Amino acid sequence: MKRVLITGGAGFLGSHLCDRFIKEGYHVIAMDNLITGDIRNIEHLFKLPNFEFYHHDVSKFIHVPGELDYILHFASPASPIDYLKIPIQTLKVGSLGIHNCLGLARVKKARVLIASTSEIYGDPTVHPQPEEYWGNVNPVGPRGVYDEAKRFQEAMTMAYHTYHGLETRIVRIFNTYGPRMRLNDGRVLPAFIGQALRGEDLTVFGDGSQTRSFCYVDDLVEGIYRLLLSDYAYPVNIGNPSEITIKEFGEEIIKLTGTSQKLVLKDLPKDDPKQRQPDITKAKAILDWEPKVSRAEGLRITYDYFKSLPEEELYRAAYHREFEKK
Ligand code: UDP
Repeated sequence: MKRVLITGGAGFLGSHLCDRFIKEGYHVIAMDNLITGDIRNIEHLFKLPNFEFYHHDVSKFIHVPGELDYILHFASPASPIDYLKIPIQTLKVGSLGIHNCLGLARVKKARVLIASTSEIYGDPTVHPQPEEYWGNVNPVGPRGVYDEAKRFQEAMTMAYHTYHGLETRIVRIFNTYGPRMRLNDGRVLPAFIGQALRGEDLTVFGDGSQTRSFCYVDDLVEGIYRLLLSDYAYPVNIGNPSEITIKEFGEEIIKLTGTSQKLVLKDLPKDDPKQRQPDITKAKAILDWEPKVSRAEGLRITYDYFKSLPEEELYRAAYHREFEKK
């Protein structure tokens, strides 16, 4: 049985990856410090003999007994609200955390796949964004802690690949949504759906003309799985090229939820990217991958998930469990 370590395994993407690797017959070790992850996302796996959970901060030395075939580094705060609240942890998990994973991978002779992001393109001046574009990032702006950590993570991973000959894979993830997103993580989809369910107006930042391209989580997981098993060591964009303005997106959510509330305009946060759309030519050619789930279908499944949560979840303020402030 192949063995995989998934850091951030209790998070939104990490937990979906745990499910996928369990389904594929792997022994899965999920590691998470539960600052932004939630144990409830993986509770259903605890009864399985081929699943283990390590409550641990990947920024500290990691020890995993036994063999490992693959390490997937998905630990990181990933929404602007989260990384503004815990900027230093965000920098540490992208730097010290990946260093620990790469070191462990050398010892175990494991292949490493890291979660990078469209944020490495910053506020892009090239549209759509191909992997060859180097980006337009403000290192000292509010998003700098996330963007630069992820850029460092890519550089560190490539260095281990070229210097140590480690097998590495880099996925650049564009906006992704689906069940298990946190209602209070500040991202636009849970924000809009939470507002609709609470009977509040939907807050559009700026004039809503900025664009994003939303990928359903199952499509993303399929792309990541294919990339891990491929022999391609350079970054690959995985995302859904179907681009929409945030204002149109708000209108779609109003229609989906049937709410009688309206869109209200709020200030645009600093350095909010004006446009974002993945060029997925590479993923198509190398992985024979493209997204299959339409936004209408994905949003319906996600809305049903949010509706099924206990009502108090709707009113839970953004929170983080205890963490060390250093
Ligand atoms: N956004 C918004 N209203 C909200 C939350 C976010 O209009 O209540 C906007 C945000 O300014 C950005 C877009 O939606 O332009 C996507 O935001 P998100 O935080 O989901 O992701 P990111 O900016 O990292 O792509």
